[in-house]
Amino acid sequence: MAEPPRASSEAVSRRFAKQKRRDTAPELALRREIHRRGLRYRINYPVPSRSRRSIDIAFPKRHLAVFVDGCFWHACPEHSVESKSNSNWWVEKLEGNVRRDQDTNDSLVNEGWRVLRFWEHDLRSEASVSAATDYVEELVSASGSNSASTTANSVASSTDRSR
Ligand SMILES: [Zn+2]
Repeated sequence: MAEPPRASSEAVSRRFAKQKRRDTAPELALRREIHRRGLRYRINYPVPSRSRRSIDIAFPKRHLAVFVDGCFWHACPEHSVESKSNSNWWVEKLEGNVRRDQDTNDSLVNEGWRVLRFWEHDLRSEASVSAATDYVEELVSASGSNSASTTANSVASSTDRSR
């Protein structure tokens, strides 16, 4: 990968650097609500067979992995448009993140986990956090299916670069 952009892109880089990667408000809200309902989970739980990657909210016994994807770092199709026009370096970086997410999903599914991903922008209201928690609760209480993979937001659509 090329060097990070300089000079003309510095303002952009500063702005991007401010984007939080973890413990964002939507993720904390979801964690609080899950906890409030009596479900117990692990945070930043290691992804099996992928060192240095972690699951935002993990239910290891249930083999359920829940991710809250930041619109910026995970290149949400609705909110990442601006970055695309700014610099090839960022485009490559973010596309790398998307590929990594896909690989993480594949790896987890291969290990018999179910994967649930929410966009940060889908957890902006109390009602949406509550609805997301319903979904998590349902999957936690469902008897563990070994091969099912569920993604709340389609990973396929987030990797679609055609528009
Ligand atoms: Zn978004």
